[in-house]
Amino acid sequence: MAKKEASAQEEKYRIPPEKDALDAIRNVMMARGIIHSQGRLRNLVERELAAVDKAYRISGQRVRMLAIQHGVVTVEIHFRDSERKANVYKCPVCDGKLKMVHNKTIFGGTVTLAKECTRCPYWVGLKLHVPTRYVFTLSPEFMKRLEKRKAKKEKTKRKPKKKPPKKKAPKKKKVNKK
Ligand SMILES: [Zn+2]
Repeated sequence: MAKKEASAQEEKYRIPPEKDALDAIRNVMMARGIIHSQGRLRNLVERELAAVDKAYRISGQRVRMLAIQHGVVTVEIHFRDSERKANVYKCPVCDGKLKMVHNKTIFGGTVTLAKECTRCPYWVGLKLHVPTRYVFTLSPEFMKRLEKRKAKKEKTKRKPKKKPPKKKAPKKKKVNKK
């Protein structure tokens, strides 16, 4: 019975596969260039996904992580300070690895001991600070990669499918002049 219920729910909402989600993120970012909140990005991505399947639903967190992990965007993180002790082992923004840094220079001072993400700008000191807002910008590296791929595709398109038979260059007969 429980199985039946689950499948009924699946019919209502579906989780898009990574490829569809990424295509949608790409299209949205290429159309907008910059988006000033995760909620807005999610809404636009979901609207884009509706063109593929109206039942597709995606969370803001999944959109953010995919966009960063696949290098489609660069992200700017706005923080709110918290009094809680930081207890973070993985980047909460992109799931990336954190590395220890000593004397991190930040806006308005230095933090003697911090962990920072190896993939996105997230960092944390001894006290937790919580991301409150994200600004997503289409990554220039991503655009470069895309253009390269496009150029490569065009090159292969231009090549004729069947190679014309090679014309052998007429051999020059050696003439022994004597
Ligand atoms: Zn990160």
